[in-house]
Amino acid sequence: MKKIIDLSSLDEIERSIYLDETWCDKCSEADLGIDKPELYIENNCKFISGSCTVCGELCISEIFTQEIS
Ligand SMILES: [Zn+2]
Repeated sequence: MKKIIDLSSLDEIERSIYLDETWCDKCSEADLGIDKPELYIENNCKFISGSCTVCGELCISEIFTQEIS
């Protein structure tokens, strides 16, 4: 089950942590940034997804550093 977290409900610092922690498979590069970000919890893991700002491909990154609330 997928639970979407409203990014706009987070403060700016927290949001920037999620948006900076991205990985693009196509570019094989981290921290390129994403457009139209979506934060969600699935199978007790937290993910951030969005379009790569460089190539436009969908990026999904698991977030390891944050506690799941
Ligand atoms: Zn990319």
